[in-house]
Amino acid sequence: MSGGSLESLPAAARGHLEKLGLRNAFDLVLHLPLRYEDETRITALSEARAGETVQVEAVVESSEIAFRPRRMLLCRTRSVDQPLVLRFFHFYPSQLKQLAPGVRVRAVGEVRPGFFGAEMIHPRYRVVRADTPLPQSLTPIYPTTAGLQQHVLRKAIGEAMAESDLSETLPPELLRALRLPDFAASLRLLHQPPPDIAAQALEHRTHPAWRRIKFDELLAQQLSMRVHQRRRQSARALALAPPARLTRTLVERLPFSLTAAQARCLAEIRADLARAHPMQRLLQGDVGSGKTVVAALAALQAVESGAQVAVMAPTEILAEQHYGKFSAWLQPLGVSVAWLSGSQPRREKREAAARIETGEAQVAVGTHALFQDQVTFHRLALAVVDEQHRFGVHQRLALRQKGTDQAGALQPHQLMMSATPIPRTLAMTFYADLEVSVIDELPPGRTPVLTKLVADARRDEVIARVREACLSGRQAYWVCPLIEESEALQLQTAMDTYESLRTTFPDLSVGLVHGRLSSTDKAAVMARFSAGALQLLVATTVIEVGVDVPNASLMVIEHAERMGLAQMHQLRGRVGRGAAASVCILLFQNPLSDNARERLRIIYEHVDGFEIARHDLRIRGPGELLGARQSGVPMLRFADLEADADLVEAARDAAPLLLQEHAQAAQLHLQRWMGGRQEYLRV
Ligand code: ADP
Ligand code: MG
Repeated sequence: MSGGSLESLPAAARGHLEKLGLRNAFDLVLHLPLRYEDETRITALSEARAGETVQVEAVVESSEIAFRPRRMLLCRTRSVDQPLVLRFFHFYPSQLKQLAPGVRVRAVGEVRPGFFGAEMIHPRYRVVRADTPLPQSLTPIYPTTAGLQQHVLRKAIGEAMAESDLSETLPPELLRALRLPDFAASLRLLHQPPPDIAAQALEHRTHPAWRRIKFDELLAQQLSMRVHQRRRQSARALALAPPARLTRTLVERLPFSLTAAQARCLAEIRADLARAHPMQRLLQGDVGSGKTVVAALAALQAVESGAQVAVMAPTEILAEQHYGKFSAWLQPLGVSVAWLSGSQPRREKREAAARIETGEAQVAVGTHALFQDQVTFHRLALAVVDEQHRFGVHQRLALRQKGTDQAGALQPHQLMMSATPIPRTLAMTFYADLEVSVIDELPPGRTPVLTKLVADARRDEVIARVREACLSGRQAYWVCPLIEESEALQLQTAMDTYESLRTTFPDLSVGLVHGRLSSTDKAAVMARFSAGALQLLVATTVIEVGVDVPNASLMVIEHAERMGLAQMHQLRGRVGRGAAASVCILLFQNPLSDNARERLRIIYEHVDGFEIARHDLRIRGPGELLGARQSGVPMLRFADLEADADLVEAARDAAPLLLQEHAQAAQLHLQRWMGGRQEYLRV
């Protein structure tokens, strides 16, 4: 799509458009109004009702700057034969000149009875001639940003509409069946609705023109997913042999037996791995449900087929824990496990990369360092990605592209893991091309975590509780407040908290872990905490994912009101992993915003991750839940998964039909809506 209409704009205006995410003509075309104002009619003063915004035409009789009761521009006018006063409290000196006697204005605003008779306060107005025609359509009011005036935006959008190719992409029979109007006509109507339009339908976005745009958006997304699905189905992967002796040995040696849910998920994964097409499966399971051992058993199957496995985690701490577990489980079986992370000394990194390249390392565990250019796999057959929503889309693509063979003919199977459950409507749209296995039961013997909400004023009681727990042989986490604005400030807060808690608890051994520690130091602190040498661990949210110390049964979260739901759920999941009854104390600071109060209520009332995710979706919308923020891919702009569920279904049904029978139209549609972003939509 050309950017013609944008290039003709002054740089400042272009900067503003950029801020609104408007980068090309088609972006502008899809920048739809927030609301409209009716300037197509002139209302007689006598007919203007209170509270109603109307347009009145009047001729200026006199203008002056008044100082009582405060400074203002007072403009006395006459509308037909009735007087009307326009009052402006904020004005430019030039306006006094502009509103000279005899000048005709059209003013839009509310008419109210005032001190001087009928008046309008701060109307929007235009100077007109007596024969200036009225606009034929409602005036759109667009979402904008400070410094970008509506008329500039309007002009840019008008030009973009004129120069863009808005030709119909959808076959007429489909539009008839769904009772949807033409694309260009829908856009024109939304940008410039006729005055007699059903205002309610427009406002509630249920008007057919709105539905058409929403449908197109949903369809583009479904098409993109189908295209990926096809590509994947035509892609080939190494078909792995059924698990054999090593797997049996590991299962026998585990100190527990798999839960029924774990066994079912593992069977689903194994069936996929046996096929010659790349698996793309999401293993979902609440915090603590035991996803890691399932992944390890899947990895072993690849190893037994003579292939390699990559296990990737989003943080060093989590990756190290995986390395620890995979080593403990697999090395005794003679499987070699390599460790690769960004913060490793260069020499170690080179050594690990060499072991991976020769195939000496059968399993490689690490952070995103695993898929950097220097790393070449010998025979990668399975990529395990933990907390997959935390990775950017680019990173996941890169890992996939590290296919099994140099020719790129074989793709690795992918097993993604997540403790953030995806509600049904979301799964239906965004993950339609992903198989999902759910571990829907926790290992036996867990005691549910008791959650307490405590106002910061009662901090002393919390401190007493922490001391008591630690002195009776248990361990505790103290999670420092989240400071989103500044990482430096967050670090400072963590250090301060650590110092003050060390003073508070001279009788306890206290440790500190935060994101800025080197991985060696981080590992050392975690190891001491795991071994029980530290009783209290002060931590930033770096411990949010995956940390597993069963003896820790108390967690304090400071400034819980700042944390997101998913984050609190994850944090809370760090306790309740052993036999002791666990408690999670959410310290909060009054006064609470409505939103914070709502979040605290939900986390207090629910322990089930699915329930919490459902509420999270409601509060925050799908983008964040899917980690789209990270990837920069715009999610649904127009359609609403709940309100437009019928359109979601319709788009899902239409997509395969279109691809089959109107391939060119499908291509055009994708190009229009996705541009170069297709590759990133569904990975
Ligand atoms: P998550 O799903 O949150 O990643 P983990 O894989 O870390 O959970 O497992 C949490 C803990 O439960 C670990 O200590 C793990 O060894 C243990 N575990 C896993 N499966 C079982 C099981 N079937 N029975 C008992 N404990 C288990
Ligand atoms: Mg985990």
